[in-house]
Amino acid sequence: MNNKTGARNFAGRFYKSKAWKIRSVNYRKLHPLCERCLSKGLYVPAELVHHKVHINEENQHDMQILMSDDNLESLCRKCHGEEHASREAMCFDEEGRLVL
Ligand SMILES: [Zn+2]
Ligand SMILES: [Zn+2]
Repeated sequence: MNNKTGARNFAGRFYKSKAWKIRSVNYRKLHPLCERCLSKGLYVPAELVHHKVHINEENQHDMQILMSDDNLESLCRKCHGEEHASREAMCFDEEGRLVL
């Protein structure tokens, strides 16, 4: 099996899981603004919760990566798009939609 496809399938399932939905909603209650815009002095509502270390085939079962505050970041769509533009990675928004 192709590892990359395996991780993608896992990530898709994970982002659709109830555990993640609850986690991302709670995280955004604590961090309602885009953390990157905020660091530039801009107040922009966060639209999704990003994993700083992207989920891959090696860390896909690591709860520290999946669920820890340390690896989560509230972002607006613009910052999230910029984050992913330079990387080969995928993420999903809080509704499980693929964000490229
Ligand atoms: Zn932003
Ligand atoms: Zn992301």
